[in-house]
Amino acid sequence: MERIVDIEKFDNEFIEEVSLRPSSWDEYIGQGQIKKNLKVFIEASKKRSEALDHILFFGPPGLGKTTIANLISSEMGANIKTTAAPMIEKSGDLAAILTNIEEGDILFIDEIHRMSPAIEEILYSAMEDFRLDIIIGSGPAAQTVKIDLPRFTLVGATTRAGMLSHPLRERFGMHFRMQFYTAEELAEIVRLASIKLDKETHAEAAHEIAKRSRGTPRLALRLLRRVRDFSEVANEEKVNIKTTQYALDQLGVNNLGFDEEDIRLLEFLIASKGRPMGLSTIAAALSEDEGTIEDVLEPYLLANGYIERTARGRVATEKSYSYFRLNGNKDA
Ligand code: ADP
Repeated sequence: MERIVDIEKFDNEFIEEVSLRPSSWDEYIGQGQIKKNLKVFIEASKKRSEALDHILFFGPPGLGKTTIANLISSEMGANIKTTAAPMIEKSGDLAAILTNIEEGDILFIDEIHRMSPAIEEILYSAMEDFRLDIIIGSGPAAQTVKIDLPRFTLVGATTRAGMLSHPLRERFGMHFRMQFYTAEELAEIVRLASIKLDKETHAEAAHEIAKRSRGTPRLALRLLRRVRDFSEVANEEKVNIKTTQYALDQLGVNNLGFDEEDIRLLEFLIASKGRPMGLSTIAAALSEDEGTIEDVLEPYLLANGYIERTARGRVATEKSYSYFRLNGNKDA
C-alpha cells in the first residue's frame, strides 16, 4: 500500500512535481546557507568563464536536491542532463552521456551511491581530467580509447553519504548537507504552490499542512494536493483549517507528521524498555527493509530527537516516551 508520508516519489507524481518546481532562487525557500554559498561560487565561476566545480548534495529524499541542481543550471545558463546511477549499467552508457555534453553543462546523477565500481572508476578521470578512458574489447586485443571531454559540472545527489566511496567523495569540490525545513518554511512553500495550483490556502491551513510534513517539501506538496481535493468537494473558495485538519486525519497523518509506520517503529523501541535495537531487528519487527528504515523513516525521527542511534542500536528518547504517555501508551 502507498504510505502517504513515503518520501520516495509516487509514480504519478513526477509531472505534477515538475509543474510546482521553483524556477528561481526566490521561490526556493529555506536552505539559506547552501543558497548563499552557491550564489558566491556561481558568480565567481561566471566571472572566470569557467565551469563550476563538481557539487555533491546529500540528505533524505524530497528535500530539494534535484530542484537545486536545476536552479544551478539555469543560473549558470547551462544545459542540464539528468540521470540516476542505477540507470548507468555499462561503461558505454556513461560514455554516451558524457560525449553528448557541452562545455559548462551540468550532469545531474541522482542516487550516486548506487554507482557500480567499474563505472565509478571511469567517472574519476572524467571528473578530474575531463578525459574518458574506455577499454574496448577484451583479452589481448583489448584497446584503451581516450576521449577528451568538455569541462562540465557533475552534480551528485545521495541519500546515504556514508555509502559513497572515499575517492568519489573527494572528487567533489563542494559538499552540501540538506537540512529538514522548518514549519514556517514549509508553510511558505505550501502557500506559493497553492497559488500555482489555483486554490489558495488560509494561513492556518498552510501551517497545519507544514506541521505534519516531516520537514519535507515533497510531502508538504503531496498533502496539499490531497487536502485541496477535500476542499474542492466541500466547495470552499480557499482551503480552510477545519477541512485541512479533517483531511489530514483521514489520511492517517498525525499532528507531528507521524504515520502508522513511524508509530510502529517508536512503539517497538518503547516496548523494548530502553534496550538498544539493531537495524536488522527493527527491520524484521516492522517487516520493512533496512534501507527504507535508514533513508526514509529514521532521519526525521533522529533530527527531531525522537530516537537516538547508539553504538549498540537505536533507542527511543524521553521525547518519544512523553509523547506516547500523553497518548495513553501503557509501556511508555
Ligand atoms: P530530492 O531531489 O531531494 O528528492 P526534489 O528536488 O525532487 O527532492 O524536491 C521535491 C519537490 O519539493 C520539488 O518538486 C519541489 O517542487 C519541492 N521543493 C523542494 N525543495 C524546495 C524548496 N526549497 N522550495 C520550494 N519547493 C521545494
